[in-house]
Amino acid sequence: MAGVALLLLLVFCQGTLQAEATSPMTQPATVAVAALPEGELSAYPAQLPPLPYEYGALTKAIDAETMQIHHDRHHASYVKNLNAALKQQPNLQNRSVEALLRDLKSLPADIRTTIQNNGGGHLNHTIFWQLMSPNGGGQPTGAIANAIDQTFGSFDNFKKQFNEAGGARFGSGWVWLVRNPQGQLQITSTPNQDSPIMEGSYPILGNDVWEHAYYLRYQNLRAEYLTNWWNVVNWQEVERRFQLASQQ
Ligand code: MN
Repeated sequence: MAGVALLLLLVFCQGTLQAEATSPMTQPATVAVAALPEGELSAYPAQLPPLPYEYGALTKAIDAETMQIHHDRHHASYVKNLNAALKQQPNLQNRSVEALLRDLKSLPADIRTTIQNNGGGHLNHTIFWQLMSPNGGGQPTGAIANAIDQTFGSFDNFKKQFNEAGGARFGSGWVWLVRNPQGQLQITSTPNQDSPIMEGSYPILGNDVWEHAYYLRYQNLRAEYLTNWWNVVNWQEVERRFQLASQQ
């Protein structure tokens, strides 16, 4: 009896696994997904992730039209350009975006800058959408709240320094809270679409200070955008990234 039961169980499980593996809802059959390190982003095919909320969900800081153009056109173009750059590079297609950015020197010179800009753009924006929420804002909670207090004295002081770094970025770029290679929290800024992981730091929180992120509503007033942005920061996601950072 036990043998029959085991056999039935095996048949049942196998059927379930096959159903999952072939279901078009879970895995398009035409897309080969490489086995990437947990949580890392596929570089080929790179795919535009859907926004986790409506375009108009973040109006406490960002208008719907900006969100739509930013996601559907700007982020989409980074994805398209990254795929185009990797199309003829079978040896690189199984690497994650993060792995490519950590080792730019290993890439062929003729596509290195394209990967840096568009791989960085894809990674930065994928992180950025998750770091905001219509239910965001307020004070940080959990371990990240304590770490911010210990490192920067207070949450208000941290926000002030973060906004100053975002304001001081000349031209286009990002302002970040990272875990640096020494294991400390640090506020940094990167030009263009450079990612902190290019310098061995793990991005915990980041704000996009390219004009495309705020110009329709704020015009030249980047400082006002930086101030309002705290109204949509998703502190649960920040805490999640802080926990991931300490496992790196
Ligand atoms: Mn952007």
